[in-house]
Amino acid sequence: MATATLSEFRNEPTVDFSAPANRQAMEKALEQVRSAFGREYQLRIGGEWIATGDKLVSVNPSNPKEIVGIHHKATAELANRAVESAWAAFPGWSRTPAGERVRMLLDAARILRARKMEFDAWLVYEAGKTWPEAEADVSEAIDFCEYYAREMTRLAGPQPVVQLPGERDEMIYIPLGVGVVIPPWNFPLAILAGMTAAALVTGNTAVVKPSSETPTIAAKFAEVLLEAGFPESSFTLLTGSGAAVGDVIVQHPKTRFIAFTGSRDVGLRINELAAKPQKGQIWIKRVIAEMGGKDAIVVDADADVDQAVDGVLASAFGYQGQKCSACSRAIVDAKVYRQFLEKLAAKAKSLQVGPADDPRNYMGPVISEGARKSILSYIETGRKEGRVVAGGSAGPEGGYFIPPTIIADVEPEAKVFQEEIFGPVLAVTKARDFEDALAKANDSQYGLTGAVFSNNPAHLREARERFHVGNLYFNRKCTGAMVGVHPFGGFNMSGTDSKAGGPDYLLLFLQAKSVATKTA
Ligand code: NAD
Repeated sequence: MATATLSEFRNEPTVDFSAPANRQAMEKALEQVRSAFGREYQLRIGGEWIATGDKLVSVNPSNPKEIVGIHHKATAELANRAVESAWAAFPGWSRTPAGERVRMLLDAARILRARKMEFDAWLVYEAGKTWPEAEADVSEAIDFCEYYAREMTRLAGPQPVVQLPGERDEMIYIPLGVGVVIPPWNFPLAILAGMTAAALVTGNTAVVKPSSETPTIAAKFAEVLLEAGFPESSFTLLTGSGAAVGDVIVQHPKTRFIAFTGSRDVGLRINELAAKPQKGQIWIKRVIAEMGGKDAIVVDADADVDQAVDGVLASAFGYQGQKCSACSRAIVDAKVYRQFLEKLAAKAKSLQVGPADDPRNYMGPVISEGARKSILSYIETGRKEGRVVAGGSAGPEGGYFIPPTIIADVEPEAKVFQEEIFGPVLAVTKARDFEDALAKANDSQYGLTGAVFSNNPAHLREARERFHVGNLYFNRKCTGAMVGVHPFGGFNMSGTDSKAGGPDYLLLFLQAKSVATKTA
Protein backbone atom coordinates (compact mmCIF):
# COMPACT_ATOMS: atom_id res chain seq x y z
CA MET A 1 0.00 0.00 0.00
CA ALA A 2 1.38 3.41 -0.99
CA THR A 3 0.65 4.70 2.48
CA ALA A 4 2.82 2.22 4.40
CA THR A 5 5.57 4.79 4.79
CA LEU A 6 3.47 7.65 6.15
CA SER A 7 5.42 9.90 8.48
CA GLU A 8 4.18 10.65 11.98
CA PHE A 9 1.36 13.21 12.05
CA ARG A 10 2.49 16.80 12.65
CA ASN A 11 0.24 19.86 12.88
CA GLU A 12 0.43 22.16 9.88
CA PRO A 13 2.52 25.24 10.72
CA THR A 14 0.63 28.53 10.42
CA VAL A 15 1.91 31.38 8.28
CA ASP A 16 3.46 34.31 10.15
CA PHE A 17 1.91 37.41 8.58
CA SER A 18 4.36 39.74 10.27
CA ALA A 19 6.95 38.60 7.70
CA PRO A 20 6.77 41.04 4.74
CA ALA A 21 6.91 38.29 2.10
CA ASN A 22 3.94 36.50 3.66
CA ARG A 23 2.04 39.76 3.99
CA GLN A 24 2.57 40.52 0.33
CA ALA A 25 1.55 37.00 -0.70
CA MET A 26 -1.67 37.35 1.29
CA GLU A 27 -2.42 40.76 -0.22
CA LYS A 28 -1.99 39.23 -3.67
CA ALA A 29 -4.28 36.30 -2.77
CA LEU A 30 -6.94 38.74 -1.53
CA GLU A 31 -6.74 40.62 -4.81
CA GLN A 32 -7.00 37.45 -6.88
CA VAL A 33 -9.94 36.10 -4.91
CA ARG A 34 -11.70 39.44 -5.12
CA SER A 35 -11.41 39.26 -8.91
CA ALA A 36 -13.34 35.94 -8.76
CA PHE A 37 -16.24 37.48 -6.78
CA GLY A 38 -19.78 37.05 -8.05
CA ARG A 39 -19.21 33.82 -9.99
CA GLU A 40 -22.15 31.46 -10.37
CA TYR A 41 -21.90 27.89 -9.05
CA GLN A 42 -24.20 25.13 -10.26
CA LEU A 43 -25.17 21.98 -8.41
CA ARG A 44 -23.48 18.71 -9.31
CA ILE A 45 -25.25 15.43 -8.60
CA GLY A 46 -23.64 12.17 -9.72
CA GLY A 47 -21.48 13.97 -12.27
CA GLU A 48 -24.34 16.00 -13.79
CA TRP A 49 -24.25 19.79 -13.52
CA ILE A 50 -27.62 21.30 -12.66
CA ALA A 51 -28.84 24.92 -12.74
CA THR A 52 -32.09 25.32 -10.80
CA GLY A 53 -32.39 29.06 -11.32
CA ASP A 54 -33.29 29.53 -7.66
CA LYS A 55 -30.15 31.17 -6.33
CA LEU A 56 -28.47 31.77 -3.01
CA VAL A 57 -26.37 34.92 -2.85
CA SER A 58 -23.42 34.87 -0.51
CA VAL A 59 -22.05 38.26 0.59
CA ASN A 60 -18.97 39.67 2.30
CA PRO A 61 -20.03 40.37 5.91
CA SER A 62 -17.43 43.17 6.12
CA ASN A 63 -19.23 44.85 3.23
CA PRO A 64 -22.54 43.15 2.36
CA LYS A 65 -22.84 45.11 -0.88
CA GLU A 66 -20.16 42.78 -2.26
CA ILE A 67 -21.36 39.46 -3.65
CA VAL A 68 -18.85 36.67 -3.05
CA GLY A 69 -20.66 33.88 -4.88
CA ILE A 70 -24.03 32.95 -6.39
CA HIS A 71 -25.16 29.36 -5.87
CA HIS A 72 -27.98 27.38 -7.41
CA LYS A 73 -30.15 25.96 -4.63
CA ALA A 74 -31.30 22.37 -4.50
CA THR A 75 -34.98 21.46 -4.38
CA ALA A 76 -36.45 18.65 -2.27
CA GLU A 77 -36.57 16.50 -5.43
CA LEU A 78 -32.85 17.09 -6.07
CA ALA A 79 -32.09 16.35 -2.42
CA ASN A 80 -33.75 12.96 -2.83
CA ARG A 81 -31.81 12.41 -6.04
CA ALA A 82 -28.53 13.20 -4.24
CA VAL A 83 -29.17 10.47 -1.63
CA GLU A 84 -30.19 7.97 -4.33
CA SER A 85 -27.06 8.78 -6.32
CA ALA A 86 -24.85 8.33 -3.22
CA TRP A 87 -26.62 5.03 -2.56
CA ALA A 88 -25.92 3.84 -6.10
CA ALA A 89 -22.23 4.78 -5.79
CA PHE A 90 -21.73 3.17 -2.38
CA PRO A 91 -20.96 -0.43 -3.46
CA GLY A 92 -18.16 0.70 -5.78
CA TRP A 93 -16.66 3.36 -3.54
CA SER A 94 -16.78 1.19 -0.39
CA ARG A 95 -14.76 -1.49 -2.17
CA THR A 96 -12.11 0.96 -3.37
CA PRO A 97 -9.03 -0.16 -1.42
CA ALA A 98 -8.47 1.91 1.72
CA GLY A 99 -4.95 2.71 0.54
CA GLU A 100 -6.35 4.46 -2.52
CA ARG A 101 -8.83 6.48 -0.48
CA VAL A 102 -6.00 7.45 1.88
CA ARG A 103 -3.86 8.54 -1.05
CA MET A 104 -6.68 10.77 -2.33
CA LEU A 105 -7.05 12.38 1.08
CA LEU A 106 -3.32 13.05 1.32
CA ASP A 107 -3.55 14.59 -2.13
CA ALA A 108 -6.39 16.81 -0.95
CA ALA A 109 -4.13 17.98 1.91
CA ARG A 110 -1.34 18.68 -0.56
CA ILE A 111 -3.62 20.73 -2.82
CA LEU A 112 -5.00 22.72 0.12
CA ARG A 113 -1.45 23.44 1.26
CA ALA A 114 -0.51 24.65 -2.22
CA ARG A 115 -3.60 26.91 -2.35
CA LYS A 116 -3.45 27.94 1.31
CA MET A 117 -3.47 31.70 0.94
CA GLU A 118 -6.19 31.53 -1.68
CA PHE A 119 -8.35 29.63 0.83
CA ASP A 120 -7.34 32.10 3.56
CA ALA A 121 -8.64 34.87 1.32
CA TRP A 122 -11.98 33.16 0.64
CA LEU A 123 -12.41 32.77 4.43
CA VAL A 124 -11.63 36.45 4.98
CA TYR A 125 -14.24 37.49 2.45
CA GLU A 126 -17.03 34.97 2.93
CA ALA A 127 -16.77 34.20 6.66
CA GLY A 128 -15.36 37.53 7.92
CA LYS A 129 -12.26 35.91 9.42
CA THR A 130 -9.18 38.01 10.11
CA TRP A 131 -5.98 36.79 8.46
CA PRO A 132 -4.71 34.73 11.42
CA GLU A 133 -8.16 33.23 12.08
CA ALA A 134 -8.50 32.26 8.41
CA GLU A 135 -5.02 30.77 8.43
CA ALA A 136 -5.89 28.69 11.52
CA ASP A 137 -9.06 27.39 9.81
CA VAL A 138 -7.21 26.31 6.64
CA SER A 139 -4.37 24.75 8.66
CA GLU A 140 -6.91 22.76 10.65
CA ALA A 141 -8.54 21.51 7.44
CA ILE A 142 -5.14 20.26 6.26
CA ASP A 143 -4.59 18.65 9.67
CA PHE A 144 -7.90 16.79 9.48
CA CYS A 145 -6.99 15.36 6.05
CA GLU A 146 -3.51 14.31 7.17
CA TYR A 147 -4.68 12.92 10.51
CA TYR A 148 -7.64 10.93 9.19
CA ALA A 149 -5.50 9.54 6.37
CA ARG A 150 -3.19 8.07 9.02
CA GLU A 151 -6.10 6.91 11.16
CA MET A 152 -7.65 5.08 8.22
CA THR A 153 -4.34 3.36 7.55
CA ARG A 154 -4.38 2.15 11.17
CA LEU A 155 -7.98 0.94 10.96
CA ALA A 156 -7.82 -0.58 7.47
CA GLY A 157 -6.18 -3.87 8.44
CA PRO A 158 -7.40 -6.70 10.67
CA GLN A 159 -7.81 -5.67 14.30
CA PRO A 160 -6.30 -7.66 17.15
CA VAL A 161 -8.70 -10.29 18.54
CA VAL A 162 -8.10 -13.41 20.65
CA GLN A 163 -7.63 -16.58 18.56
CA LEU A 164 -9.76 -19.60 19.46
CA PRO A 165 -8.00 -22.95 18.90
CA GLY A 166 -9.20 -24.46 15.62
CA GLU A 167 -10.34 -21.10 14.19
CA ARG A 168 -8.92 -18.08 12.42
CA ASP A 169 -10.59 -15.09 14.07
CA GLU A 170 -10.70 -11.60 12.61
CA MET A 171 -12.37 -8.29 13.15
CA ILE A 172 -12.45 -5.77 10.33
CA TYR A 173 -13.98 -2.31 10.02
CA ILE A 174 -16.37 -1.65 7.17
CA PRO A 175 -18.14 1.57 6.13
CA LEU A 176 -21.76 2.33 7.04
CA GLY A 177 -23.36 3.55 3.78
CA VAL A 178 -24.67 6.95 2.71
CA GLY A 179 -23.69 9.73 5.09
CA VAL A 180 -25.28 13.16 5.31
CA VAL A 181 -22.73 15.80 6.31
CA ILE A 182 -24.02 19.11 7.69
CA PRO A 183 -21.39 21.65 8.79
CA PRO A 184 -21.84 25.15 10.26
CA TRP A 185 -20.53 28.42 8.79
CA ASN A 186 -18.08 29.27 11.57
CA PHE A 187 -15.35 26.84 10.51
CA PRO A 188 -16.58 26.70 6.94
CA LEU A 189 -13.50 24.92 5.70
CA ALA A 190 -12.07 22.98 8.67
CA ILE A 191 -15.31 21.41 9.92
CA LEU A 192 -16.69 20.84 6.43
CA ALA A 193 -13.41 19.23 5.37
CA GLY A 194 -13.03 17.24 8.60
CA MET A 195 -16.49 15.65 8.55
CA THR A 196 -16.42 15.05 4.77
CA ALA A 197 -12.91 13.57 4.87
CA ALA A 198 -13.89 11.24 7.71
CA ALA A 199 -16.99 10.04 5.84
CA LEU A 200 -15.17 9.45 2.55
CA VAL A 201 -11.86 7.98 3.70
CA THR A 202 -13.74 5.32 5.67
CA GLY A 203 -15.50 4.26 2.44
CA ASN A 204 -18.88 5.91 2.83
CA THR A 205 -20.46 8.06 0.14
CA ALA A 206 -21.60 11.50 1.25
CA VAL A 207 -24.23 14.15 0.64
CA VAL A 208 -22.68 17.34 1.98
CA LYS A 209 -25.00 20.25 2.71
CA PRO A 210 -22.90 23.36 3.39
CA SER A 211 -24.15 26.32 5.40
CA SER A 212 -26.04 28.91 3.34
CA GLU A 213 -23.68 31.56 4.76
CA THR A 214 -20.51 30.02 3.31
CA PRO A 215 -21.30 28.04 0.16
CA THR A 216 -18.39 29.38 -1.91
CA ILE A 217 -15.76 27.98 0.45
CA ALA A 218 -17.58 24.64 0.23
CA ALA A 219 -17.58 24.80 -3.58
CA LYS A 220 -13.84 25.47 -3.55
CA PHE A 221 -13.25 22.47 -1.27
CA ALA A 222 -15.33 20.28 -3.60
CA GLU A 223 -12.95 21.32 -6.41
CA VAL A 224 -10.04 20.14 -4.26
CA LEU A 225 -11.63 16.74 -3.62
CA LEU A 226 -12.26 16.18 -7.33
CA GLU A 227 -8.72 17.25 -8.20
CA ALA A 228 -7.40 14.84 -5.57
CA GLY A 229 -9.15 11.98 -7.37
CA PHE A 230 -12.31 11.46 -5.32
CA PRO A 231 -14.82 10.22 -7.91
CA GLU A 232 -17.68 12.53 -8.84
CA SER A 233 -20.12 9.90 -7.58
CA SER A 234 -18.53 9.61 -4.11
CA PHE A 235 -19.96 12.89 -2.86
CA THR A 236 -22.50 15.57 -3.72
CA LEU A 237 -22.31 19.15 -2.55
CA LEU A 238 -25.97 19.96 -2.01
CA THR A 239 -26.26 23.71 -1.65
CA GLY A 240 -29.64 24.83 -0.37
CA SER A 241 -31.50 26.07 2.64
CA GLY A 242 -31.19 23.85 5.72
CA ALA A 243 -34.90 24.04 6.30
CA ALA A 244 -35.81 23.15 2.68
CA VAL A 245 -33.48 20.23 1.99
CA GLY A 246 -32.16 19.33 5.47
CA ASP A 247 -35.20 17.34 6.57
CA VAL A 248 -35.33 15.50 3.24
CA ILE A 249 -31.78 14.17 3.39
CA VAL A 250 -31.96 13.41 7.12
CA GLN A 251 -35.21 11.48 6.76
CA HIS A 252 -34.40 9.62 3.56
CA PRO A 253 -34.64 5.86 4.20
CA LYS A 254 -31.32 5.23 2.42
CA THR A 255 -29.43 7.68 4.65
CA ARG A 256 -27.39 5.58 7.07
CA PHE A 257 -25.80 8.27 9.24
CA ILE A 258 -25.73 12.02 9.79
CA ALA A 259 -22.60 13.95 10.79
CA PHE A 260 -23.79 17.33 12.01
CA THR A 261 -22.06 20.30 13.61
CA GLY A 262 -24.16 23.33 14.47
CA SER A 263 -26.60 24.72 16.98
CA ARG A 264 -28.35 22.83 19.75
CA ASP A 265 -31.83 23.28 18.30
CA VAL A 266 -30.98 22.05 14.81
CA GLY A 267 -28.97 19.16 16.27
CA LEU A 268 -31.88 18.08 18.44
CA ARG A 269 -34.26 18.27 15.50
CA ILE A 270 -31.97 16.12 13.36
CA ASN A 271 -31.61 13.62 16.19
CA GLU A 272 -35.38 13.40 16.56
CA LEU A 273 -36.08 13.05 12.83
CA ALA A 274 -33.33 10.50 12.38
CA ALA A 275 -34.69 8.36 15.21
CA LYS A 276 -37.95 7.68 13.38
CA PRO A 277 -37.60 4.80 10.89
CA GLN A 278 -38.99 5.57 7.43
CA LYS A 279 -40.80 3.17 5.10
CA GLY A 280 -38.22 0.76 3.66
CA GLN A 281 -35.48 1.75 6.12
CA ILE A 282 -33.66 -1.28 7.56
CA TRP A 283 -31.27 0.30 10.07
CA ILE A 284 -31.08 2.63 13.02
CA LYS A 285 -29.53 5.87 11.73
CA ARG A 286 -26.42 6.94 13.52
CA VAL A 287 -26.24 10.60 14.53
CA ILE A 288 -22.94 12.29 15.23
CA ALA A 289 -23.93 15.74 16.52
CA GLU A 290 -21.59 18.42 17.78
CA MET A 291 -23.57 21.38 19.05
CA GLY A 292 -23.37 24.66 20.96
CA GLY A 293 -21.43 25.87 23.96
CA LYS A 294 -21.57 28.34 26.82
CA ASP A 295 -17.96 28.01 27.76
CA ALA A 296 -16.61 29.31 31.06
CA ILE A 297 -13.18 30.38 32.25
CA VAL A 298 -12.64 30.28 36.01
CA VAL A 299 -10.14 32.77 37.44
CA ASP A 300 -8.91 31.64 40.85
CA ALA A 301 -7.80 33.91 43.71
CA ASP A 302 -4.12 33.13 43.19
CA ALA A 303 -4.16 33.17 39.38
CA ASP A 304 -1.74 35.28 37.40
CA VAL A 305 -4.32 37.97 36.61
CA ASP A 306 -2.56 39.34 33.51
CA GLN A 307 -2.30 35.88 32.03
CA ALA A 308 -5.99 35.28 32.81
CA VAL A 309 -6.99 38.58 31.19
CA ASP A 310 -5.14 37.68 27.99
CA GLY A 311 -6.59 34.16 27.96
CA VAL A 312 -10.16 35.39 28.44
CA LEU A 313 -9.72 38.19 25.89
CA ALA A 314 -8.50 35.85 23.15
CA SER A 315 -11.13 33.21 23.96
CA ALA A 316 -14.04 35.65 24.13
CA PHE A 317 -13.30 37.93 21.17
CA GLY A 318 -11.20 35.93 18.69
CA TYR A 319 -13.34 35.54 15.53
CA GLN A 320 -15.86 37.86 17.18
CA GLY A 321 -16.81 35.22 19.75
CA GLN A 322 -18.25 33.03 17.00
CA LYS A 323 -16.54 29.82 18.02
CA CYS A 324 -18.33 26.98 19.77
CA SER A 325 -15.34 27.00 22.11
CA ALA A 326 -15.50 30.78 22.75
CA CYS A 327 -15.43 31.93 26.36
CA SER A 328 -18.78 33.59 27.05
CA ARG A 329 -18.62 33.41 30.86
CA ALA A 330 -15.71 34.53 33.04
CA ILE A 331 -16.22 33.39 36.63
CA VAL A 332 -13.81 35.24 38.86
CA ASP A 333 -12.91 34.87 42.53
CA ALA A 334 -14.08 37.89 44.54
CA LYS A 335 -10.50 38.58 45.72
CA VAL A 336 -9.29 39.41 42.21
CA TYR A 337 -12.62 40.36 40.59
CA ARG A 338 -12.16 44.12 40.47
CA GLN A 339 -8.57 44.01 39.32
CA PHE A 340 -9.40 41.42 36.63
CA LEU A 341 -12.42 43.34 35.35
CA GLU A 342 -10.61 46.68 35.10
CA LYS A 343 -7.72 45.19 33.17
CA LEU A 344 -9.99 43.17 30.91
CA ALA A 345 -12.29 46.11 30.09
CA ALA A 346 -9.31 48.35 29.29
CA LYS A 347 -7.83 45.78 26.92
CA ALA A 348 -11.18 45.00 25.26
CA LYS A 349 -11.74 48.71 24.55
CA SER A 350 -8.39 48.86 22.78
CA LEU A 351 -9.24 46.06 20.31
CA GLN A 352 -9.73 47.36 16.79
CA VAL A 353 -12.88 46.30 14.94
CA GLY A 354 -13.36 46.63 11.17
CA PRO A 355 -13.18 44.90 7.78
CA ALA A 356 -11.53 41.48 8.04
CA ASP A 357 -9.30 42.03 5.01
CA ASP A 358 -7.49 44.88 6.80
CA PRO A 359 -4.85 43.16 8.95
CA ARG A 360 -4.84 46.03 11.47
CA ASN A 361 -8.23 44.88 12.74
CA TYR A 362 -8.24 42.36 15.57
CA MET A 363 -11.95 41.68 15.04
CA GLY A 364 -13.97 41.54 11.84
CA PRO A 365 -17.76 41.42 11.36
CA VAL A 366 -20.27 38.89 12.67
CA ILE A 367 -21.60 36.59 9.98
CA SER A 368 -24.92 38.17 8.99
CA GLU A 369 -27.51 40.84 9.64
CA GLY A 370 -29.62 38.23 11.44
CA ALA A 371 -26.70 37.39 13.75
CA ARG A 372 -26.01 41.09 14.35
CA LYS A 373 -29.62 41.74 15.38
CA SER A 374 -29.76 38.71 17.65
CA ILE A 375 -26.47 39.65 19.37
CA LEU A 376 -27.56 43.29 19.84
CA SER A 377 -30.81 42.09 21.39
CA TYR A 378 -28.83 39.92 23.84
CA ILE A 379 -26.75 42.99 24.70
CA GLU A 380 -29.97 44.87 25.53
CA THR A 381 -31.04 41.99 27.77
CA GLY A 382 -27.58 41.99 29.35
CA ARG A 383 -27.89 45.69 30.12
CA LYS A 384 -30.77 44.78 32.47
CA GLU A 385 -29.04 41.69 33.83
CA GLY A 386 -25.68 43.31 34.59
CA ARG A 387 -23.42 46.32 34.05
CA VAL A 388 -21.93 46.99 30.60
CA VAL A 389 -18.25 47.84 31.13
CA ALA A 390 -17.06 47.65 27.50
CA GLY A 391 -18.77 47.84 24.11
CA GLY A 392 -22.53 47.60 24.24
CA SER A 393 -23.42 49.39 21.02
CA ALA A 394 -23.38 48.74 17.29
CA GLY A 395 -19.93 48.88 15.70
CA PRO A 396 -18.60 50.84 12.72
CA GLU A 397 -20.90 51.36 9.72
CA GLY A 398 -20.65 49.36 6.52
CA GLY A 399 -20.47 45.79 7.76
CA TYR A 400 -21.98 43.60 10.46
CA PHE A 401 -19.68 44.93 13.17
CA ILE A 402 -20.16 44.69 16.94
CA PRO A 403 -17.46 45.85 19.36
CA PRO A 404 -16.22 43.52 22.11
CA THR A 405 -18.84 43.73 24.83
CA ILE A 406 -18.39 42.89 28.51
CA ILE A 407 -21.31 42.66 30.93
CA ALA A 408 -20.19 42.51 34.57
CA ASP A 409 -21.93 41.42 37.78
CA VAL A 410 -24.09 38.85 36.00
CA GLU A 411 -25.93 36.27 38.11
CA PRO A 412 -26.13 32.62 36.98
CA GLU A 413 -29.90 32.87 36.38
CA ALA A 414 -29.37 35.57 33.73
CA LYS A 415 -30.09 34.80 30.09
CA VAL A 416 -26.65 36.10 29.09
CA PHE A 417 -25.11 33.59 31.51
CA GLN A 418 -27.19 30.61 30.31
CA GLU A 419 -27.87 31.04 26.57
CA GLU A 420 -25.42 30.74 23.70
CA ILE A 421 -25.16 34.21 22.12
CA PHE A 422 -22.51 33.36 19.52
CA GLY A 423 -21.01 36.81 19.27
CA PRO A 424 -18.50 39.08 21.04
CA VAL A 425 -20.39 39.23 24.33
CA LEU A 426 -18.84 38.12 27.62
CA ALA A 427 -20.67 37.79 30.96
CA VAL A 428 -18.48 38.26 34.04
CA THR A 429 -19.63 36.77 37.33
CA LYS A 430 -18.19 37.01 40.82
CA ALA A 431 -17.51 33.82 42.80
CA ARG A 432 -17.17 33.58 46.61
CA ASP A 433 -14.36 31.03 46.36
CA PHE A 434 -13.10 28.27 44.08
CA GLU A 435 -15.87 25.85 45.07
CA ASP A 436 -18.50 28.45 44.19
CA ALA A 437 -16.71 29.21 40.89
CA LEU A 438 -16.71 25.54 39.90
CA ALA A 439 -20.41 25.17 40.76
CA LYS A 440 -21.21 28.24 38.64
CA ALA A 441 -19.09 26.98 35.74
CA ASN A 442 -21.04 23.69 35.79
CA ASP A 443 -24.38 25.52 36.00
CA SER A 444 -25.09 25.07 32.28
CA GLN A 445 -26.89 22.72 29.92
CA TYR A 446 -23.75 22.76 27.77
CA GLY A 447 -20.37 21.15 28.42
CA LEU A 448 -18.00 21.90 25.57
CA THR A 449 -14.83 23.73 26.62
CA GLY A 450 -13.65 25.37 29.82
CA ALA A 451 -10.48 26.73 31.37
CA VAL A 452 -9.12 27.44 34.81
CA PHE A 453 -6.47 30.02 35.64
CA SER A 454 -4.95 28.99 38.99
CA ASN A 455 -1.64 28.34 40.67
CA ASN A 456 -3.22 26.07 43.25
CA PRO A 457 -2.54 22.38 42.41
CA ALA A 458 -5.38 21.15 44.63
CA HIS A 459 -7.85 23.39 42.78
CA LEU A 460 -6.59 22.18 39.41
CA ARG A 461 -6.98 18.55 40.58
CA GLU A 462 -10.53 19.35 41.72
CA ALA A 463 -11.35 20.96 38.33
CA ARG A 464 -9.84 18.03 36.43
CA GLU A 465 -12.38 15.75 38.13
CA ARG A 466 -15.42 17.97 38.42
CA PHE A 467 -15.41 20.66 35.69
CA HIS A 468 -17.79 18.81 33.34
CA VAL A 469 -16.62 19.73 29.84
CA GLY A 470 -15.24 17.75 26.91
CA ASN A 471 -12.19 20.02 26.50
CA LEU A 472 -10.60 21.42 29.64
CA TYR A 473 -7.59 23.73 29.68
CA PHE A 474 -5.42 24.98 32.55
CA ASN A 475 -3.70 28.37 32.52
CA ARG A 476 -4.42 28.95 28.82
CA LYS A 477 -7.28 30.04 26.58
CA CYS A 478 -10.23 27.68 25.97
CA THR A 479 -10.18 28.04 22.17
CA GLY A 480 -7.71 26.75 19.59
CA ALA A 481 -7.98 22.96 19.91
CA MET A 482 -5.38 21.26 17.71
CA VAL A 483 -6.05 18.14 15.65
CA GLY A 484 -4.39 15.09 17.20
CA VAL A 485 -3.51 17.05 20.35
CA HIS A 486 -6.87 18.07 21.78
CA PRO A 487 -9.55 15.67 20.42
CA PHE A 488 -12.62 17.90 20.30
CA GLY A 489 -16.22 17.35 21.42
CA GLY A 490 -18.57 18.22 24.24
CA PHE A 491 -20.90 16.81 26.86
CA ASN A 492 -24.61 17.28 27.54
CA MET A 493 -26.32 19.67 25.07
CA SER A 494 -22.95 20.31 23.43
CA GLY A 495 -23.37 17.06 21.56
CA THR A 496 -22.40 13.42 21.28
CA ASP A 497 -18.78 14.02 22.33
CA SER A 498 -17.40 12.67 19.07
CA LYS A 499 -13.85 13.91 19.68
CA ALA A 500 -13.06 15.16 16.18
CA GLY A 501 -9.35 15.02 15.43
CA GLY A 502 -8.85 12.18 17.90
CA PRO A 503 -8.23 8.43 17.70
CA ASP A 504 -11.89 7.51 18.34
CA TYR A 505 -13.39 9.68 15.60
CA LEU A 506 -13.24 7.50 12.49
CA LEU A 507 -14.87 4.62 14.37
CA LEU A 508 -18.07 6.68 14.30
CA PHE A 509 -18.07 6.33 10.51
CA LEU A 510 -17.43 2.57 10.56
CA GLN A 511 -18.96 -0.65 11.83
CA ALA A 512 -17.02 -3.71 12.95
CA LYS A 513 -17.47 -7.13 11.39
CA SER A 514 -16.21 -10.27 13.10
CA VAL A 515 -15.28 -13.18 10.81
CA ALA A 516 -14.45 -16.63 12.20
CA THR A 517 -13.14 -19.45 9.95
CA LYS A 518 -12.96 -23.02 11.21
CA THR A 519 -9.48 -24.34 10.43
CA ALA A 520 -9.42 -27.72 12.22
P1 NAD B 1 -27.04 26.00 12.63
O1 NAD B 1 -27.50 24.90 13.53
O2 NAD B 1 -27.94 27.12 12.38
O3 NAD B 1 -26.69 25.38 11.20
C1 NAD B 1 -25.79 24.30 11.06
C2 NAD B 1 -26.05 23.61 9.74
O4 NAD B 1 -27.34 23.00 9.80
C3 NAD B 1 -26.08 24.56 8.54
O5 NAD B 1 -25.48 23.92 7.44
C4 NAD B 1 -27.56 24.74 8.31
O6 NAD B 1 -27.88 25.08 7.00
C5 NAD B 1 -28.08 23.36 8.66
N1 NAD B 1 -29.51 23.28 8.97
C6 NAD B 1 -30.34 24.25 9.41
N2 NAD B 1 -31.60 23.75 9.57
C7 NAD B 1 -31.53 22.42 9.24
C8 NAD B 1 -32.48 21.37 9.21
N3 NAD B 1 -33.75 21.52 9.56
N4 NAD B 1 -32.06 20.15 8.83
C9 NAD B 1 -30.77 19.94 8.48
N5 NAD B 1 -29.83 20.91 8.49
C10 NAD B 1 -30.21 22.13 8.86
O7 NAD B 1 -25.63 26.47 13.20
P2 NAD B 1 -24.68 27.60 12.61
O8 NAD B 1 -25.28 28.93 12.89
O9 NAD B 1 -24.29 27.27 11.21
O10 NAD B 1 -23.37 27.39 13.51
C11 NAD B 1 -23.24 27.90 14.79
C12 NAD B 1 -23.54 26.83 15.82
O11 NAD B 1 -22.67 25.72 15.63
C13 NAD B 1 -23.28 27.30 17.24
O12 NAD B 1 -24.30 26.82 18.07
C14 NAD B 1 -21.95 26.65 17.59
O13 NAD B 1 -21.73 26.48 18.96
C15 NAD B 1 -22.07 25.35 16.86
N6 NAD B 1 -20.77 24.74 16.62
C16 NAD B 1 -20.42 23.64 17.36
C17 NAD B 1 -19.18 23.05 17.18
C18 NAD B 1 -18.77 21.85 17.97
O14 NAD B 1 -17.78 21.21 17.62
N7 NAD B 1 -19.46 21.50 19.04
C19 NAD B 1 -18.29 23.59 16.24
C20 NAD B 1 -18.70 24.71 15.50
C21 NAD B 1 -19.93 25.27 15.70
